[in-house]
Amino acid sequence: MENPKTGGFAKQNTMTTTKTLDRLFSNVTISRVWFFVLILIYLVVAISVVATSRSEDSIMLAGQPVPLRSLTGAVSSLTTLCTILLVAYYKKPGFVVSLTFLICQFPSILMGIFLGHNFISIAGLFTNALAIVTIVLLYRNGREIELFQNKLRDQAATDTLTGLPNRFACSEMLAALEKRNERHAVAVLNLNNFKRINNTMGLATGNAVLSQIASRWREAADHGLTGTVDFVTCQGGDEFSIIIRGYRSDEDVLKTIRFYKSLLEEKITVDGCDYYLNASIGYALFPEDALTGDELLSCANAAMYASKRGVGDERICHYSASLTDAERALETERKIRSALDNNGLFFVLQPQFNINHRLSGFEALARMRDADGSVISPSEFIPIAEKTGLVDRIDHAVFKQSAEYFGELIRKTHTDSTLSVNVSVRHLMKNDFLDEVREILKTTQIPPNQLEIEITESIMIDSVDKALQCIGEIKKMGIKIAIDDFGTGYSSLSYLNSFPADMLKVDKAFIDKMNTNESSKQYVAAIISIGHVMNFAVICEGVEKPDQLDTLSSIGCDFIQGFIWGRPMSPEDATALVERSMKSA
Ligand code: C2E
Ligand code: MG
Ligand code: MG
Repeated sequence: MENPKTGGFAKQNTMTTTKTLDRLFSNVTISRVWFFVLILIYLVVAISVVATSRSEDSIMLAGQPVPLRSLTGAVSSLTTLCTILLVAYYKKPGFVVSLTFLICQFPSILMGIFLGHNFISIAGLFTNALAIVTIVLLYRNGREIELFQNKLRDQAATDTLTGLPNRFACSEMLAALEKRNERHAVAVLNLNNFKRINNTMGLATGNAVLSQIASRWREAADHGLTGTVDFVTCQGGDEFSIIIRGYRSDEDVLKTIRFYKSLLEEKITVDGCDYYLNASIGYALFPEDALTGDELLSCANAAMYASKRGVGDERICHYSASLTDAERALETERKIRSALDNNGLFFVLQPQFNINHRLSGFEALARMRDADGSVISPSEFIPIAEKTGLVDRIDHAVFKQSAEYFGELIRKTHTDSTLSVNVSVRHLMKNDFLDEVREILKTTQIPPNQLEIEITESIMIDSVDKALQCIGEIKKMGIKIAIDDFGTGYSSLSYLNSFPADMLKVDKAFIDKMNTNESSKQYVAAIISIGHVMNFAVICEGVEKPDQLDTLSSIGCDFIQGFIWGRPMSPEDATALVERSMKSA
């Protein structure tokens, strides 16, 4: 019985590779429709032949009366054309249908001649016999060409040693699955220390071992023993890949891979000698890990090499686990570039409140949408964007998008709240940063005193002079400055004293520890006092619990930003929050 989960593809590996690929590529519905259309045309024309051959009427052609009967030959040649088309395009079924039709015409033609004395039909007799000879020759010739082509295609798609589909067949299958957007996984299996068998026992033994492994795996794929639909291919030498489909979860993929691994690890006997083999295996999933067949295969290969290095359990490694830090950074960089080019960057807004719970503003926070639709957090991509010089493009996109939104919000609600945007040190140091700010103020019409720029404390260590000059210009425009993540860097008090900021943002790390012991609490209290001495307002980030709120209120904190009163939200939710807070004010 056909396994419903495998959708009729269970016996993929016993069918020739060509047939499997044909099945994936075939556009059966369209060709079937044309097949029946041709038969219909044939029948209509055949009826017309009979009608014209018996008709006594005439039609006018170029001003001359022409008997309908004399057109019989011309109409009947259309039936011959239909039979030729059927044989040429539909091979065996076309041939069988055409031959049946042509043979069935004989009795009617003979009856016309002998009973109806319709001697014009004698020509039809010959045409019919010749049409039969033509389609038989056409069919025979076509069949020979087809068989030869299939043989060539089979050879091109089959690994000669193991008889498994080869690298070409594997890429074709992956391309077809990609085109159909069907979920699948690719596992690459590389035999460990296989060279040793070749070197010590000779190539013939090595080949026999590979053949045995291939036939075990083919059997498993053919009989659907794994519960998934598998296409086992040989990439050449001691490397195999398995395309896995029809699974419900990633765990199913792992189970299938484990099954093939266990088959491989069973004893292999060649010429009375026993061999025990194992493999390093890497796998990758479509569409999670890669969106094209080539990429998927190279991801699975990278994972296989990682598994050789010892990454992953049981020598099976999933692509995402195989990445080194450097590779992961490269992957994130690729995602950032793609998000920047495809509008994958957007912003959310986290509300800020004064200590009496009155809404005072929002911080715009960047988010990035991955190709699979999931959202990536800035703590993952901002550090890499900073290293690769992409952060200014991110800052600019978030600044522009959020300022456009906020300008609209002010016009709509007349809110006096503030929009805070994060600007990286790198971005701030750019020569055209001030022009960018002026342009945004001009286009969005946000009053400058409702805009705040957050700069991390590290600016005071990096290039303080240039930064101070730039910040001075921003202040002149009337924009507010906040020092973000205060307390995490190593800025000295003397720098802080000369820093023209308006707001100090105390980092979440201090708020987390604040209520665990008295000295941590006093530390936060000291930061707040220093901020006040320097004439800065103080906002504490990452406030999650009521007891933290109580403490902050008792030690004089001015503003609160934390999950306790508001998580980062969509612009629509932020608008609703502003409207609610203005009504209740
Ligand atoms: P940040 O500027 O210090 O922003 C505050 C971060 O703390 C945000 O994380 C926010 O969601 C989180 N947070 C606030 N309250 C709580 C809380 O009560 N509990 C917890 N667990 N978290 C809270 P997010 O959005 O992941 O941003 C992380 C950092 O990424 C930001 O820290 C900022 O340094 C950077 N960033 C975000 N957007 C941008 C941007 O557009 N440009 C630049 N250069 N950096 C950005
Ligand atoms: Mg910030
Ligand atoms: Mg912060």
